Amino acid sequence: MAEWETVIGLECHVELNTRTKMFCACHNEFGAEPNTLTCPVCLGHPGSLPVPNREAITRIVKVGVALGSEIAPHSLFHRKNYFYPDMPKNYQISQYDLPVCVGGHLDVELPDGSTKRVGITRVHMEEDTGKTSHGSASGRIHEAESALIDYNRAGVPLVECVSEPDMRAPEEAAAYLRELRGLLDSLEVSDVRMEEGSLRCDANVSVRAAGTDALGVKVEIKNMNSVRSLERALTFEVDRQLAALEAGEPLVQETRHWDEDSGTTKTMRSKEEAFDYRYFPEPDIPALEPEEAWIEEIRRGLPELPRARRTRYAEELGLKAEVARVLVADRAATSLFEETVALGAEPAPSANWITQDLAGLRKEAVVADAAAEPTVGPRHIADLVALVADGTLSGAGAKRALEEAFRSGAAIADIVENRGLRQVSDAGELGAVVDRVLAENEDAAEKFRAGNESVIGFLVGQVMKASGGSANPTLAQELLRERLSR
Ligand SMILES: [Zn+2]
Repeated sequence: MAEWETVIGLECHVELNTRTKMFCACHNEFGAEPNTLTCPVCLGHPGSLPVPNREAITRIVKVGVALGSEIAPHSLFHRKNYFYPDMPKNYQISQYDLPVCVGGHLDVELPDGSTKRVGITRVHMEEDTGKTSHGSASGRIHEAESALIDYNRAGVPLVECVSEPDMRAPEEAAAYLRELRGLLDSLEVSDVRMEEGSLRCDANVSVRAAGTDALGVKVEIKNMNSVRSLERALTFEVDRQLAALEAGEPLVQETRHWDEDSGTTKTMRSKEEAFDYRYFPEPDIPALEPEEAWIEEIRRGLPELPRARRTRYAEELGLKAEVARVLVADRAATSLFEETVALGAEPAPSANWITQDLAGLRKEAVVADAAAEPTVGPRHIADLVALVADGTLSGAGAKRALEEAFRSGAAIADIVENRGLRQVSDAGELGAVVDRVLAENEDAAEKFRAGNESVIGFLVGQVMKASGGSANPTLAQELLRERLSR
C-alpha cells in the first residue's frame, strides 16, 4: 500500500459588517424583510453607477495588513460574467489578476499545541450576490416548485481570502478556519457568523503519493456552514479519494456539495461544465491606488491580534494555554476578562470563571432562548475571585452567587448576604453540623475508624449538604478527622 499525502487549501468568503453596501448607499443588514434594502445600483438597473465603499476598502486593507500581505499599490475591479437569477447584473464585480492584497500568512495553532504557518495567496474585494430560497417541503433544489429571491444581500461587501494548499489534514484546515475567524473577529471587520453566512468556506482537496510535488486531482467542496462540517466533509472526501486511488479508479476534477444530513459529498458539476467567466476590467470604477501613509495609519491602528494575545496571556498572566485559547476565541469574553483584570482581579481564576461557569450559563440561556442581556460584568467576576480567595465563599457558594448574578444582575456582595452564602469557617458553628452528620451516619464513621480512608469524602459531602453548601470544605474535613480520631 502506497503512502498518501493530503493537500488542502481553503477559500473563505467574509461579509464585511460595514454600515452600507459595497457600491451603493443601501443598508448592509442581516435579517431584514426581504427586498427592502435595495436600489437601482444593487439591483443592476441599466445606467446606474457603482461607487466603492471607502470603509470596505479600509477593512480589506486591515485584513491584509494583519495577514502580512503586500497591499498592492495598484489594484483593479473586474467583471466576472455569469448568469444566475440572484445576480441581477449578470456579472459580479470582483477582482481578477490585480487583487488588493497579495501573499501573506496565518500562523495556526494546531490541536497538538504546535504552530503551523499557512501561506495566504491573495485577499480580494468583491460584492455578494442575492439569496435564493427554493420552495419545496424538503428544501431541496431539484424538488422545488418555486424559487424566491431576496436582493438585500446583493452588493454586500465580500472579502475572499485564498490560502495556499498548505494544510495536510482535515484537523489542520479546521484549525486554520478557527484562527482566521478569530483574527477577523478581533479586527471587528465582520460578524463572522458561519450559521448566518457572514463567513463561508470552500475547500480544495486532493491526495497524492507522499514525497511527490505534483498535485493530485483536485476536488472543490462547497456548502459547509460550520468548522465542524468543514472537518467532517474533508474527512469524508479524503477517505473517498483514498479508496478510489487504492482501487485504481480514476478521480475527476469536480465541484462537490457537502450534504450535512447524509455526511457525504455529492457531485455538483464536473469540469466539462466549468464556466468561462470572461473577466474584463470594470469600466465604471478607477483603479485603487492606496497611499503608503494611509496603509501605515491602518497598520498602526491594528488591535492586538489573537496569537499575540494568547502568548501574552500564557506567558505574562499565567493562564493555561487551553484557557487562553478558549478565552481569546471569543471577543466578548476577552473584553470582559481585560476589564476584570483591570479592576485588579487575579487573572487565572478570572479566566476560569469566564470561560467555564459563565460560558456555561450563557450557553444554557441561548438554548432556553432566554433574554440574554449581559448581566454579569467585570465587577461581578472580580468580586467572586476575591471572595473565594479570602475564604468568604466556597467554590460551590461562588457558583450559586454567579448563577444568581446571571439571572438578576445583583451585586455579588448583596447576593452573598441575602442568600446566606457566606462560607462557614467558624469551627464552633461548623462543629455542630459535623456532630449532627456523624450522629446520622454512624456506619460511615465506623468504616472510617476501621481504616476505610475514602469514606471521608462522603462525610465531607454530607457536611456540605447539611450546611446548604456554605461549609468551608477544608475545615469540615479537619473537624471530621479530629472527631473521628478521638
Ligand atoms: Zn443598493
